[in-house]
Amino acid sequence: MSNRYKKMRPYRTKSKNLNALQKKRLVEVRFRQLLVFILLLVVGVCFLSFYKMVFLPRIVLEGDRVVEVEYLGKYKEPGYLSSYQGENITSKVKVSGDVNTNKIGEYPIVYQVKCDGKVSTKTRIVKVVDRKKPKISFVNDSKKLYICPNTKYLFDDYYASDNYDGDLTNVVKVKEEDSRMRYEVSDSSGNKTIKYRDVLYKDVEGPTLTLDGPLNVMLVQGDSFSDSTYQVDDNCSGDDVKVSISGDVDTSKVGEYERIYKAKDKYGNVTKVVQKVVVMEPSKQGVIYLTFDDGPRAGTTDIILNVLKEKGVKATFFVTNSGPDDLIKRAYDEGHSIGLHTASHDYSVVYQSVDSYFNDLKQVSDRVEKITGEKSWLIRFPGGSSNTISKKYSPGIMSTLTKEVLNRGYRYYDWNIDSRDAEGGKYSADEIASFVTSHLSHDRVNMVLMHDIKVNTKDAIGKIIDYGISNGYRFEAITPYTDMVIQRVNN
Ligand code: ZN
Repeated sequence: MSNRYKKMRPYRTKSKNLNALQKKRLVEVRFRQLLVFILLLVVGVCFLSFYKMVFLPRIVLEGDRVVEVEYLGKYKEPGYLSSYQGENITSKVKVSGDVNTNKIGEYPIVYQVKCDGKVSTKTRIVKVVDRKKPKISFVNDSKKLYICPNTKYLFDDYYASDNYDGDLTNVVKVKEEDSRMRYEVSDSSGNKTIKYRDVLYKDVEGPTLTLDGPLNVMLVQGDSFSDSTYQVDDNCSGDDVKVSISGDVDTSKVGEYERIYKAKDKYGNVTKVVQKVVVMEPSKQGVIYLTFDDGPRAGTTDIILNVLKEKGVKATFFVTNSGPDDLIKRAYDEGHSIGLHTASHDYSVVYQSVDSYFNDLKQVSDRVEKITGEKSWLIRFPGGSSNTISKKYSPGIMSTLTKEVLNRGYRYYDWNIDSRDAEGGKYSADEIASFVTSHLSHDRVNMVLMHDIKVNTKDAIGKIIDYGISNGYRFEAITPYTDMVIQRVNN
């Protein structure tokens, strides 16, 4: 048979000449050859696996062979095991390959183990991917898009950003369809975001109105008042904005007034700005304002309050965050004025910056409002407005603060008579009293600086009050309408 088949080899060219029986046999032989080949292959693979299992170290990877990690995420090794001839040799496995989650890409991790000179290797692929969608955000309303009537969309009020690609604003596709604006953007990994906004051809925004003058105007009775000039602008009307001003200001009468500036655009949107005008009393010549800083303090403030009560005199306390609340409450209830001296009285804090000053002021302001139920608008700067120590912390800060406190509706009061009671307890009660009485004048306001935390002060004030009364002076507490006594700013 075999000879016959050998003879038949060139069957390809002569197959046309084979009869049906010969053709059938040929198919059978080919089929058997294929079976034998497959059998040998299976045996070979089995043998190889068996050889590897028995004679080569084994590595088994836990988890998937291909692992996905989100961009900027953390890759955590899922684990592996290794054995050789029944023995656990996991500790001998060397793992190499770094995953950089800062960069999208594929990172192979290679696990290799050596034992008895035989080496096994396995590989895991870590894919760093970006599955996060880009974000589209809007300057104004994210649901509604208002476009000025009779104008076109300016494509200027949206942003797109992506965790991987960064700013994608320039590649956003914007299209108006069915009264909606459609925004579409894709990142480099194919993550897509689509947003819609309803389109309304309508102006709903009021004009901007900015006064050139301050929002708080401080005047003294009899001064003249004139309206501030202003700037207007509008998103849809441009400068086609009508401004009306209302509200009475009577500078002949002490009090607080409101001047209301109303700006109206072509489509009826209105913006209102209120200017507060405070008309203060003219300086009261011959009046003595006793002012006490740095308190309250138990043991001194209460004695000072006793003396003031006994003599029927009202004074002003510029308080800090120190001392007991009930002394502030008592001073307020007995008709004295409570002013703000800052919470910490720490120069390095209050004069660090304008923000730092106002943060500190807010603390003592909140304290006073909580205790008295009333917000205080009276300020005394630590060291006075003329202090130079603030230069050390912030050059020029007093020039800014003295203006800014007025802008915010406060008044500040320095002094023109220093009792010198704060100078390290150097002076006796008699000396302190005479420093004050020797400087009193009927021809001006007498704003006296004292400290209710000082022991000698409490003993001096009785003498000062007695002198003042017997020499025809009046004592008053500072009110929000008391004209300011201010020193020259030196920083
Ligand atoms: Zn002080």
